Amino acid sequence: MGDRWAVEVDRGVCIGSGMCVNHAPGGFALDSARQSHPAAPETDANEKVLAAAEGCPVEAITITLTGSGEVVFPPEE
Ligand code: SF4
Repeated sequence: MGDRWAVEVDRGVCIGSGMCVNHAPGGFALDSARQSHPAAPETDANEKVLAAAEGCPVEAITITLTGSGEVVFPPEE
């Protein structure tokens, strides 16, 4: 079975660029205040959501493994 990811957007950091929606249509959505949120709090591990997290200009997106809580993104420095 593949990994399951918990996806969070730090709304205090998100600047509403919409890039995550472009990278992962269906994975994220902007609300009326142009703040991003994950379409669902959990998702199957997938390249598009990872690309969205990597592409966010302000690193507002965090991905952790459900269960263990191990951080998938951002990578540890
Ligand atoms: S890419 Fe980052 S800053 Fe842009 S809308 Fe998504 S979470 Fe917000």
